[in-house]
Parts: sequence; C-alpha cells; structure tokens
Amino acid sequence: MSFQDFPDQSQAIELLQRSLERGRLGHAYLLAGHQLEELESIARTLAKTLNCRQPRRQNDRAVDCCDTCPNCQRIEQSNHPDVHWVRPESKSRIISVGQMRELMQEINLKPNEANYKLAVLVGADRLNIQAANAFLKTLEEPPPRSVLILLTTEPQRLLETILSRCLRLNFAGNGTRPPAPRRAGMVAGFQ
Ligand SMILES: [Zn+2]
Repeated sequence: MSFQDFPDQSQAIELLQRSLERGRLGHAYLLAGHQLEELESIARTLAKTLNCRQPRRQNDRAVDCCDTCPNCQRIEQSNHPDVHWVRPESKSRIISVGQMRELMQEINLKPNEANYKLAVLVGADRLNIQAANAFLKTLEEPPPRSVLILLTTEPQRLLETILSRCLRLNFAGNGTRPPAPRRAGMVAGFQ
C-alpha cells in the first residue's frame, strides 16, 4: 500500500508527507488510532517511502512509495533487515525489557543496506515499565538515520515519559465516523 491508499486518514497523512517534503521528519512518532492493523500499514508505508528505489517525490524528496520495487516488496513481506517490528509476546501480551534491549542493539548498528533503519512497536501501550524505561534514552536520541514508530490504540495508557518524547499523529479518520467518547478530545495532527 502507498499513502494514497488511506483516503480516510488523509489529514494526518498530509502532515506526515509535509514533514517528508520539507526534510523535517521527526525521529520518533506515536501513531494513535482506532485500528492497530491500519496503523501498522501506515508505518509500513512510511518505511517503504524512506527506502523506496523509485519514490514519488515532491521538492526532490520522497513523499510516497512506489509499492512495487524490491525494497517496497521486502518491507511489505516483513523481510527487510533494516525494518524491525516488535510485538507483544503471545502469552504475556507485553513487550518485555529483553525485546527492547534486542531492538536497541539492532538499531544501533549501521543500516545493512537501507537509507533508514526503522523500528516499529506494534502496541506501544504493551511496554511494561522496565521496558519503557530501558527505551527512554534511545527514544530521546535515536542513532542517526533511524526512525522509531510507536503504534497504539490506547495512547492514554502510555507513560508520560514516552509520550513526551514522541511526535504524535492521530489517525482517527477525517471525521466520517464519530470518535469514541474517551477519544473525543483528540484532533488530527501533532500535539
Ligand atoms: Zn518502491
């Protein structure tokens, strides 16, 4: 999928694309929304865009992926050595400190072949306290040419120390669906 395949989320995606176009992508993002799967697809599309061989460009900078080149295909298949996915472990449903240490080792290595290393935390609200604390320093100062992407459907469960270190993008849709009451205060965009 490319960014144009998410018409319902065009507001938040435009913000992201504007940062790409200006060469001002942040180093840590929190993507919050209603559906974790959709957030995963958006994170995957950003990973593709940053590593695509023939991206759509604006201002001479990549703002969307081609979705067909070998890099895009490998990222689609979760088979790219520079794009790391971390998910809650099946039984405990938490992201453990061991998983985070492993991830930090990986992203501190130079990219194998990509322009950018990306780490995507699927369900950042599942980080336990030790794992979150172990991650703070990396989140504040990721290695050069790396982007950390945290995904959550429950941003209110994240520690303030994590929230304050991420640029937040809300993928609540373009207002076609009424938001759930507890998310009613959220607006699309950076906070
Ligand atoms: Zn591509």
